[in-house]
Amino acid sequence: MIENIQLFVIFTQPIFLIMLLSVNKESQKTIFEQLLTQITGLIENGTLKPGFRMPSSRELAELMGVNRTTIVHVYDELWAQGYIESTPGSYTYVRKRKPVMQPHCSEADTVEDNSEIFNGCVDVDYSLIGKFIKGMEEHESSSIDLMHLMPDPRLLDKKAIAGCMRDVLAQEDPSPYAYVHPRGYPPLRHEIIKHMKLHNIHGEDKNILITNGSQQSLHLILQVFSKPGDCFVLEAPSYTLLYPILQIFHIKVIEIPLLSTGMDIKSLKNIIGREPVRFIYTMPTFQNPGGVSMPQAEREELLRLCEDKKCIIIEDSIEEEMKYFGKAHLPLKSMDSQNQVIYLGTFSKVLAPGLRTGWIIADHVCIDRLTAVKTIFEISSNSLSQILLYKFCSSGAYELHLRKMMRVFRKRMKTAINAIKKYIPAEKISWTEPAGGFLIWMKILSKPIDNIEEYFEKYGVRINDGHNYFRTLQPENYIRISISRENEK
Ligand code: PMP
Repeated sequence: MIENIQLFVIFTQPIFLIMLLSVNKESQKTIFEQLLTQITGLIENGTLKPGFRMPSSRELAELMGVNRTTIVHVYDELWAQGYIESTPGSYTYVRKRKPVMQPHCSEADTVEDNSEIFNGCVDVDYSLIGKFIKGMEEHESSSIDLMHLMPDPRLLDKKAIAGCMRDVLAQEDPSPYAYVHPRGYPPLRHEIIKHMKLHNIHGEDKNILITNGSQQSLHLILQVFSKPGDCFVLEAPSYTLLYPILQIFHIKVIEIPLLSTGMDIKSLKNIIGREPVRFIYTMPTFQNPGGVSMPQAEREELLRLCEDKKCIIIEDSIEEEMKYFGKAHLPLKSMDSQNQVIYLGTFSKVLAPGLRTGWIIADHVCIDRLTAVKTIFEISSNSLSQILLYKFCSSGAYELHLRKMMRVFRKRMKTAINAIKKYIPAEKISWTEPAGGFLIWMKILSKPIDNIEEYFEKYGVRINDGHNYFRTLQPENYIRISISRENEK
């Protein structure tokens, strides 16, 4: 009994700690690190219990034969990590604290399911988006990627980009580390405005907003100008990642069939006649996924219809530049006498999606409102990418890059078209020859194949199932192939 009492007294005394600690002056670790690891270990494994009185820093320093400042630093760190507590003029004690999660288990093993806590309040089909995210994962390099609509990285002039990057980092003012103007880096705005003139879009500086890509542009437009129940018309099939945005904003979607001449204008006329259409979303040039383009007469008719009804036209022009065969098209924006068209451009499809830079050209009131809301959500877009893009564009490297892309992809598209004509019997698929862009859309006329993406993957080829591009389920079977990533071979 007396022995037990003696042990208890020893174990609760500061001196007890000194018996458990040791320092090795030869070690690669500093004395600070050695003592900190040992004391936290003793607290974590329960040897030093909550309430244990720590020796004073002077006491511990003297007994261990180390500098007192080191002990003070160790105590400061223990305090910062919540292992000890003290009040002025009193002793320091071990605290009862929550254990730190071990590195190998980032999620607590005891928690079964937190879906009630993280019960999302936005209307999102998480499994559908999960499928998209999975598609972005790296796949075996041996598979042929006809799935992604992203520029082939082999075509980038990395030397030119590296040179521009060096200039950006060397410059003092404006700093690439500071916020950039909410409407975008002014010299880049100027370069884009200049470039858009080549497409007959004659905006001024007040008409442009630089964004983090067209995805953000679409989000912003709906955030600012839509209200639940608004009627939104688009050609179907259409851009997969637009549908969930429309769902989040509770917008009423009306799908109009896509013809070989783009959006079916006759159907549009009928719908506009009977519904209060607020938005028309279209990709008149090299539609995604259809690959088709709208002829001039249909473009004019579309504008005429919307002018009467005062609806907003969103013109998404991801591949405006990539015209290989036939006559050039005029963007809707170039004929927009009523300032109803919101034009979306992006560097993602012809240069590099990772730079996350796109732009909106629109009426100045529209731009001001979009800018205000964009500022609320993110203050400023990435300065580094914008200054880099400015250097790249103003040096002439962007125009050179576009010319190279045109040369390369004209050949690739020809090869793809010839291969389809040669190897796939006409009774098996129907399709429209694209005059540009990266996409070929095929309707499969033979027996439907379940889970067509997996089916192709077995042959080492990745394609997109056409069902991804409709909001409502389509009985017909389509696939989209993209020639943007693979060469002729
Ligand atoms: N619109 C369309 C039609 C697209 O295909 C994409 C990307 N695939 C986007 C917008 C968004 O592009 P980003 O945000 O990269 O500019």
